[in-house]
Amino acid sequence: MRTGHVRLTSHSGGTDAPAVHWGAPTAAERGPIVGTTARTHRNVIGAHSGAYGVYRALAVAAGKLSADHRADLTDTAPTDRIGPFPQWTDPTTIVSLDPWGAMVTDAFADQIAAGIDIRPTIAVTKAQVILPEIVDALAKGRLVPDGRILLDTGAAQVTKAAVEPVWHLPGVAARFGCSENDLRRVLFEETGGMYPELVTRPDLEVFLPPIGGQTVYIFGAPEDLADPTVELTARVHDECNGSDVFGSDICTCRPYLTHAIEECINGAQRGGVGLVAYSRKEGRALGEVTKFLVYNARKRQAGGDTADQYFTRTECVAGVQDMRFQELMPDVLHWFGVTKIHRLVSMSNMKYDAITGAGIDVGERVSIPDELIPADARVEIDAKMAAGYYTPGEVPDAEELKRPKGRGLQG
Ligand SMILES: [Zn+2]
Repeated sequence: MRTGHVRLTSHSGGTDAPAVHWGAPTAAERGPIVGTTARTHRNVIGAHSGAYGVYRALAVAAGKLSADHRADLTDTAPTDRIGPFPQWTDPTTIVSLDPWGAMVTDAFADQIAAGIDIRPTIAVTKAQVILPEIVDALAKGRLVPDGRILLDTGAAQVTKAAVEPVWHLPGVAARFGCSENDLRRVLFEETGGMYPELVTRPDLEVFLPPIGGQTVYIFGAPEDLADPTVELTARVHDECNGSDVFGSDICTCRPYLTHAIEECINGAQRGGVGLVAYSRKEGRALGEVTKFLVYNARKRQAGGDTADQYFTRTECVAGVQDMRFQELMPDVLHWFGVTKIHRLVSMSNMKYDAITGAGIDVGERVSIPDELIPADARVEIDAKMAAGYYTPGEVPDAEELKRPKGRGLQG
């Protein structure tokens, strides 16, 4: 059981907290991000692990975890060195992750040895991924094993990175065109007052938000991502558990994701490199409850499930059409030093605009092949094309958008 008085975080800072100079030229000058809960060295708002910080609290409350536990980071170093790249040291280019987050045991070895609990916010490892769609592409001869990128078994060899969100509040506010004060106040109020320092500690500029992060899968050599002369095939994908994992046929998420992986493997085998950045922004960052409510509303409305009502139904339930905010998405591309995407496997104009707006060149845009679109997902894809999503084909007209194409609730 915890004893002693509750220590509010809202006023006095850690007396020995290292300074953070976001975007400084070296890790040493930037300073470590200390989000561990021991008070003395903390220099951020929030705690590590995004949303999983709450599970950590449960583990401590249940007596399963000592609040003082220090991670033993022996042998946990990244399998591949990423950066540093020039993008890391411009305070406005990366605002939502810590570019030095994978190399803290190197970059801040002295401070760790001196007793500061500094944790990685990025981890890089190797894996093999086996997807039925890729095994099928092998069987049909669309893909050929090379023993390097793709094995006979259908397993693709990848490097993958897990990235936790680390927000520099002045930079995040600038991306959304609001003042830092307004951003801090709204974050405070809309999380039910969860982080008082947002409004009482303007000296703390870094926030570890309680949200999901990103996972990046790389096909081929990670160092090639920063070389604009090496063909880069890339998809930035937002989580859709229903389709990605469970194969729901109401949207194109999994078929597009696996198509992108096939394109990435193909590209890497041609001497290029492939990247899939997967962001935890379930259901356009509205969450699954909202998403399922919208499905019901779409399928029960008079006239059936039609593309012309697709965005309206979402807006009726959620108040907005989309909360994914691609403004922060290009940061992970900057982390890898990407300056050019030769083949962007996406039709989303929001993603395209965010990437090109961040100064990254985009060559060809690769749309999902028609034969991969599930019948019930025709409503979604028609609505998106009519709303400005990229398509090399015909954009459906108003009459076409009124035709019910989605299944009813009972199948
Ligand atoms: Zn989906």
